[in-house]
Order: sequence, then structure tokens, then C-alpha cells
Amino acid sequence: MGLFEYIFDYMYYMYNIVQNMGTSYSQTRINCGHIVVVGGGYAGANLAYKLKDRADITIISDTPYFFHSLAALRASVEKGFAKKITIPLKDIFGDKLKVGKVTGIDTNTKTISLENGESVKYDVLVLATGSNGVLPCQTEPKTTPEEVHTVYDTYVDKVAAARNIVIVGGGPVGVEMAGELGTDFKDKSITLIHANDNLVSPHYTAKNRKDVQKILEQMGVTVILGDKVTNLEQLNKDGATTVETSGGKQIPTDLVIPCIGLTTRRDAYESSLGDKMDSFGRLKVDEYFNVIGCEDVFAIGDCCNTDEPKMALNGMEHAKCIVANFANKTSGKPLKKYNAGFIMMGISIGRNVGFGQKGTSSTIPGFIIKMLKSRDLMTGKTWSDFGLKQPK
Ligand SMILES: Cc1cc2nc3c(=O)[nH]c(=O)nc-3n(C[C@H](O)[C@H](O)[C@H](O)COP(=O)(O)OP(=O)(O)OC[C@H]3O[C@@H](n4cnc5c(N)ncnc54)[C@H](O)[C@@H]3O)c2cc1C
Repeated sequence: MGLFEYIFDYMYYMYNIVQNMGTSYSQTRINCGHIVVVGGGYAGANLAYKLKDRADITIISDTPYFFHSLAALRASVEKGFAKKITIPLKDIFGDKLKVGKVTGIDTNTKTISLENGESVKYDVLVLATGSNGVLPCQTEPKTTPEEVHTVYDTYVDKVAAARNIVIVGGGPVGVEMAGELGTDFKDKSITLIHANDNLVSPHYTAKNRKDVQKILEQMGVTVILGDKVTNLEQLNKDGATTVETSGGKQIPTDLVIPCIGLTTRRDAYESSLGDKMDSFGRLKVDEYFNVIGCEDVFAIGDCCNTDEPKMALNGMEHAKCIVANFANKTSGKPLKKYNAGFIMMGISIGRNVGFGQKGTSSTIPGFIIKMLKSRDLMTGKTWSDFGLKQPK
């Protein structure tokens, strides 16, 4: 294959993925009764958006905004960027949105209860409650987008004031954090510590993991592999402190950034569906996302136990599969099974560099990831996928 075809092939492949993350869907009516979606993140909001003009739906979220976590790390280094990562759900869903925290589900009476005492009846329930993370990956749920912006703008000041920064965790999120810092702050000492012997993800090839490491090192990031931070819980997260590792290192720092993975958000269903959870708190689902043993209850996104990386990209694929099956059910067609797997992972290493892998072995040229992701972390596309214009 010539270089031109190679580039074209990838551009076309990425174009399709990016388009599929959006809103192409038919308008055939879906008759499944009242569908209640809990969660206004990548899986839940995309599902509800695809259903809103075709079915009787309510979407419930404990925040009045969609939180675009893909771009949260840029909001932690660039002042004013945070307004691009909170998309008002009311502007997307109007009166189909209910803001409130779900605390219980009664599958016998098909009723959801909210923390404020309200209850909502459903015929079909889709749980898409996602994951919990700590700053700068996520904030706790806030009551307005402006509160989120203030939290991130304050964090930007903290990053700017720090001379020595330690990032704990070298998965995709830790790598992206190191990339943001390495791009914007050449004068700081940035150390990335990872317990594993290789960065990024076990789904990446050994060569790609090494190449990502080289890119970070060329940016001036010190990468420590195969070593574990032993005093993370005791560290002063707000000022001067010393990071200790199992390998005996003592690293003085004035900002520690934890990037060590997210935990499942289960407070909506833990009390009622606790026996349907796996050891990570994720709901056990079949290949149609039906929670096993719970008719008319589905789980998608990070809170279901599909065997694949927990990614927004996958959550949006789940949403597409569910919509197709609601339509198939309405028209009496056979249901479509979901095939879990590793589709692709594109990493932005700051705003100017990208790295990607499709499937288990194929490297995606960096300029494609840079163009599609690194430049604006897909903020513009995410707003426009919901029919809105992102703020400047
Ligand atoms: C910094 C960072 C960068 C990332 N980058 C990428 C990337 O580049 N590509 C990628 O594919 N993935 C990426 N991810 C992973 C991605 O963000 C998650 O996989 C994705 O958010 C999961 O989507 P979700 O809809 O399942 O959950 P979420 O997006 O977490 O949404 C969950 C929703 O449920 C709501 N909710 C939860 N509990 C309740 C309740 N009890 N009552 C009411 N509402 C509730 C929440 O408020 C939220 O609206 C990244 C994650 C982080 C933290």
C-alpha cells in the first residue's frame, strides 16, 4: 500500500469512528413505554439524545451539565478552558431532563427514587452512572457549571505555582496529563511514576508503549517505571511534600497529581441491585446490556461489566447498540448482540502531539490523532454532536 492510500485509509477509518460518535440515526418511532435513562455522561446523554425525538424518555442526572472528561486535563492547565467541558443538559433535553440524584430502584413496582424524595416510574430503565474520579480528572458533582469552572481555574493557578510536579499513574490519563504539562511548562520538573513496566495500556503493543515513553522524555518528563508510590494517602495534596516509592525513592514535590484509575459510581443501584454487581461494583450484563436477572433494566458505559477498557468511545457504542435493539424490538426484528473488545485508543500528548492504536496492533499516524483529538480534545465536536455551539 502506498503512503497516500495508507493515510487515506486511516483518515477514512477515523472519520467513520468520529462520525459514529455523533448523531446519525433513523427517526422511526420506538415503542417501549417510558424509558428512563440515569446518567448524563457519554453513554447516557448519547443514548437519550438518540431517543429523545423517537421515544417517551426521561433522563436523570445529578449534575445539570454533561462533563466532558476527555478534555478535563487541559482545563487544569489552561485558564478559561473549563467552560468548554460542561455542556448544559437542559439545552439538549429541555423538559425531558430531571436533575437529581438517584438513590434507589424498586424493580417490582418499576420505580426509581431520588434523594429529594421524588419518585419516577419506568417501563424500561437504562443505568449509565459511570465512574468517580478526583481532580483534575473530575470534580465532585456541582450544582452549576460555573462552580466547575471555578474549581478548574483555581487548579490552573496551583499548577502554575508548582515547580516540581509528580504524576502518579502512567495509564492513558497519566500520560495525557504529563503531555499537557510537558507542552505548556518547559521550566518545571515533571515526574511520572507508574507501577507497571510500560506506560499507557496493556492493549497497546510493546513498541507503541515505548514510543509514547520516548515522546514524553523528549518533552522533558522524567518517567519512572516499575515503582509504586507508597504514601499517596498521607501526602499533602496542596503543597510541599515528599513522594516515597517502594523502590526507595524520595521525591520532593509541591504538587501531586493522582491519575490512578476511576472507581465505579454505584450509589444509584448499590442498595437495590447489589447482588447484580461484580467485584468492581459494575452491573453484570448480557450481550444486550440487560442486567442479568433484571428484566427491563439495562446498564451501559463504565458501570456495566463488558470485557473491554472503560472508555467514552465504548460507552457511546453501547448507546448505539441499545437504540438499535429498542428499534428492533418495536419492529419485531431480531436483537443485535454487542461484541465487546478493544476498538482503538488515541492519546493526546499535549495540544501538538497525538498517538494512536487501532485494534491490537495497528499504529495510527500521530498527525491524525493530533488533528482529531489533541488540538481541542474534541470539545467542538462534542458540543456540536448535541446540536449546540461551544463557547469561545
Ligand atoms: C481525564 C480523563 C480522560 C479520558 N479520556 C478518554 C478518551 O480520550 N477517550 C475515551 O474513550 N475515554 C476517555 N476517558 C474515559 C471516559 O471519560 C469514561 O469512560 C466515560 O466518562 C464513561 O462514560 P459514562 O457515560 O459511562 O459515565 P460518565 O461520563 O462518568 O457519566 C456518568 C453520569 O451519571 C451521572 N450519575 C452518576 N450517578 C448518579 C446518580 N446516583 N444519580 C443521578 N446521576 C448520576 C453523573 O453525574 C454523570 O452525568 C477519560 C477519562 C478521564 C477521567
